[in-house]
Amino acid sequence: MDIPPIDDRLHLDCDVLVVGGGTAGTMAAITAAERGARVLVVEKAHVRHSGALAMGMDGVNNAVIPGKATPEEYVAEITRANDGVVNQKTIYQTATRGYAMVRRLERYGVKFEKDEYGEYAVRKVHRSGSYVLPMPEGKDIKKVLYRVLRRRDIRERVRIENRLMPVRVLTAGGRAVGVAGFHTRSGRFATVSAGAVILATGACGRLGLPASGYLYGTYENPTNAGDGYAMAYHAGAELSGIECFQINPLIKDYNGPACAYVANPFGGYQVNNRGERFVDSDYWSGQMMAEVKRELDSARGPIYLKLTHLPEESLAALENILHSTERPTRGIFHAGRGHDYRTHDVEMHISEIGLCSGHSASGVWVDEHGATTVPGLYAAGDLACVPHNYMIGAFVFGDLAGEHAAAHHVEPPFELPEDQVAAAHELIYRPLRNPDGPPQQQVEYKLRRFVNDYVAPPKTASKLEIALETFERMRGEIASMGARTPHELMRCAEVDFIRDCAEMAARASLTRTESRWGLYHDRADLPERDDARWLFHLNLRKRADGVMEFIKRPVEPYLVPVPEFQPVPGEPVVIAEHARVAAAKAATVRKERAVVGRSPRILELNRLAEEQPDLERLAPYLADEDPKVRRAAIATLTETVPEGVGPALAAALGDGHGTVRRAAAAGLRELVEVLPRSDELRDGLVERAGSSDPVVRATVLDVLRALRLGTRELFTAGVNDADHRVRIEGIRGLVSLDDAEAVAAAAVDPSREVRVWVAKGLGLIGKPSPALATLAADPDPLVRAAALEASGETGAPLVELAQIALSDPAWQVRVGAARCLAAADPRTAVGPVAAVLTDDNLDVRKAAAITLSRWVSWPEAEAALQSALADPDADVRAYARRALRSSAVGEREAGEEARP
Ligand SMILES: Cc1cc2nc3c(=O)[nH]c(=O)nc-3n(C[C@H](O)[C@H](O)[C@H](O)COP(=O)(O)OP(=O)(O)OC[C@H]3O[C@@H](n4cnc5c(N)ncnc54)[C@H](O)[C@@H]3O)c2cc1C
Repeated sequence: MDIPPIDDRLHLDCDVLVVGGGTAGTMAAITAAERGARVLVVEKAHVRHSGALAMGMDGVNNAVIPGKATPEEYVAEITRANDGVVNQKTIYQTATRGYAMVRRLERYGVKFEKDEYGEYAVRKVHRSGSYVLPMPEGKDIKKVLYRVLRRRDIRERVRIENRLMPVRVLTAGGRAVGVAGFHTRSGRFATVSAGAVILATGACGRLGLPASGYLYGTYENPTNAGDGYAMAYHAGAELSGIECFQINPLIKDYNGPACAYVANPFGGYQVNNRGERFVDSDYWSGQMMAEVKRELDSARGPIYLKLTHLPEESLAALENILHSTERPTRGIFHAGRGHDYRTHDVEMHISEIGLCSGHSASGVWVDEHGATTVPGLYAAGDLACVPHNYMIGAFVFGDLAGEHAAAHHVEPPFELPEDQVAAAHELIYRPLRNPDGPPQQQVEYKLRRFVNDYVAPPKTASKLEIALETFERMRGEIASMGARTPHELMRCAEVDFIRDCAEMAARASLTRTESRWGLYHDRADLPERDDARWLFHLNLRKRADGVMEFIKRPVEPYLVPVPEFQPVPGEPVVIAEHARVAAAKAATVRKERAVVGRSPRILELNRLAEEQPDLERLAPYLADEDPKVRRAAIATLTETVPEGVGPALAAALGDGHGTVRRAAAAGLRELVEVLPRSDELRDGLVERAGSSDPVVRATVLDVLRALRLGTRELFTAGVNDADHRVRIEGIRGLVSLDDAEAVAAAAVDPSREVRVWVAKGLGLIGKPSPALATLAADPDPLVRAAALEASGETGAPLVELAQIALSDPAWQVRVGAARCLAAADPRTAVGPVAAVLTDDNLDVRKAAAITLSRWVSWPEAEAALQSALADPDADVRAYARRALRSSAVGEREAGEEARP
């Protein structure tokens, strides 16, 4: 292509410009539009499939659900996870608004796991607090957001420009006034005048090079190359904590998370090659990553996610989540290696380094509304410095930034600063002048290999100095890169952003002369944490004269005290300045995805989907003679959710083709939160309750239960079904109606899985039932385990059986017994439970430690917990430590109260 003249450009204007249509960006746009602003979203990919959510999400990592955790607990937890260096005002926003955001997403149609009573089924993954809310069908989340963006009321106020990639934020009089960029398909130059700009471009995921060596095989979505970090920096905004890297556990040779968050609540855990659990610190800390690296580098490496000990139903549930959501290729990868969770634990590794506040802390400095230090410029999501904000925090801050920008935007300027526009034009099209210059892949590979060699921890001043020299030298190589197509131009601009981020990362790491955040800022030459000098934020910004300036910002007084950290109040101080020292696209042309079945009717449907069709327009496709078209029509139906969608999907449950019925069943389950309850829907579902297809029968019961439209008769009929999946749904329905007697009647079911559900269901109902004693004597160990545990939950623990079961040959039963005894009288239970703290199985010891934590004021329990501090298993040690620490705090507080 030729360099387009600077004046031949697409020019747009808006009140609020959102750069990046991922998690934070879509929410910012929706809120700003709801507040009356004229919004433009520019996205370098396509909003429908872009960003970290593109393949879905398997859970909310940090949900503060009333009754399960308090905002104050969460704020204290994140303060600790971030070694005290936090602006609690920002974290408090996520803590207090996350729940409302979950409810809002649910209204949009996103599904979160709930128990039989419709309560959020929050899981405990961290050492303290319960914050993980699974999303078993989270694969559809981006689809749902896109659907809302295209709802008529929103569409009228939000214009979306896909494949439009800004490279610079333009400023005038110190205020953000727009952006300059280009179209990544046509190559056309583009500028936007805006009353406010929200950057929501995600993490800098392409900073380090993955162990696989693949440029795009990163933990983060590789589209997120640090664009927003570089754009905010060049606009003069402050960035913070850039030395606090993101590093995550990964599957070896596969660029997907190991998913401890998903696997651990099912009973999975990380082990070394000796089968020992070694993770002592909490899962969201850099200290945990230091432990992982230490283990990997020792004779105890490699390390594994242990799953082989889990029962079939847990493994099937895990596969269902892990192989469909976030990384659908994961199942194919394991199969290619001939590995199966039943026979092989999953080898783990650690990821390359990146910048990402969502998982760690490095980002653009923002206040509690997402405003940066540049007026009119906002940042939200992984890019904004709100530590450990993850997905829900990205939504919360997208919402906050959208709201604030809509209320405070100015008139979009008539004229833009043409010198900045010209500089952006030069940055974009420079590679076209030198088409035979070094290709982007080679230059990017070299740059990122230097990042691995000299910036990744363990860091030292000598290595970081070499890094800086290298990144300065590489400016020349980057300027000489060659390109021929718009796509290659995009990649070249990204290399420029990566270089900027690499320099910021190295300089910030050099400036913070201590170690903090475990592996994230591990200075091997300065291994101690130095709170006296460094319990501060380290911010950086580009001054108007081009100098990179470092500012030490005091940590503001905490809203929630955390006794381990005592920030010192004061004023921000400039502590260092760094002036600059003088100094094709890939052959991977991606094929468009083949259209399913290539039927022209499906192409018609794809086009129709963009127009929000009503049911009448979809009806001919739903009745098409080709099942592929009917399936595609169901996909469109669930994407666009026209009026009458529920009964239409219920009708499709009666389709003659199995794949169509399954699509309808999946659609109903996906939309269950947004389906209006109606007699028509109930009748449509009930009509299918007698289907010959067990998937349909199970779906009918599941959906009727979730919508509270089912009857005792229907669920009871389900419990007598020939297929065990239907029977399980029947039991869940009866649990939701609190019908303990009918649930108990299924205790003799021939299927192990069903009997486990019966036991769990009785525990959930919480009424003592004689059936639990029967189940506690079941031939199957998993049933015995579930029954013992459930009896504790009913308040009538089967104490005698549990005491005997503490020496059952099956470890699961011993775990169930230890959990059951938590509800027993400590006078009889402390001794037997303390005795199993020496059990051979680590999960049994862990269950015993947790149970004993309740009775830490009993000398025998305290002594047992003291001995557990030397346990070879990290979890057991951690629970014992926590119990003893909380009892010491309790005693101290009691002592202080007693003092006159
Ligand atoms: C593998 C993985 C698993 C995760 N699992 C979980 C989980 O289970 N639970 C949880 O709570 N959180 C999870 N997270 C974190 C969560 O997904 C992120 O915190 C959140 O989605 C970040 O949102 P964002 O808007 O900042 O970024 P994104 O959603 O990635 O959006 C950024 C958007 O900006 C666009 N963009 C980038 N540069 C430009 C540019 N120059 N111009 C225009 N557009 C641009 C991108 O194409 C993208 O669409 C996970 C993240 C990853 C990577």
